[in-house]
Amino acid sequence: MAVPKRKTTPSKRNMRRSHDSLTPAAFQECSNCGELKRPHHVCSACGHYNGREIISVDA
Ligand SMILES: [Zn+2]
Repeated sequence: MAVPKRKTTPSKRNMRRSHDSLTPAAFQECSNCGELKRPHHVCSACGHYNGREIISVDA
């Protein structure tokens, strides 16, 4: 097994981790019911997308 010759310095380790941060999830208001939904996804509250009902949601 290949083994690193030198310990990774805190600087190099942190440079590597500079791209690891997560972006917060995006939310938009549903144009039909006003609930928050993810953009480009069917609304989980009313089942509408692009102005029409795609799936029926009971209760
Ligand atoms: Zn909705």
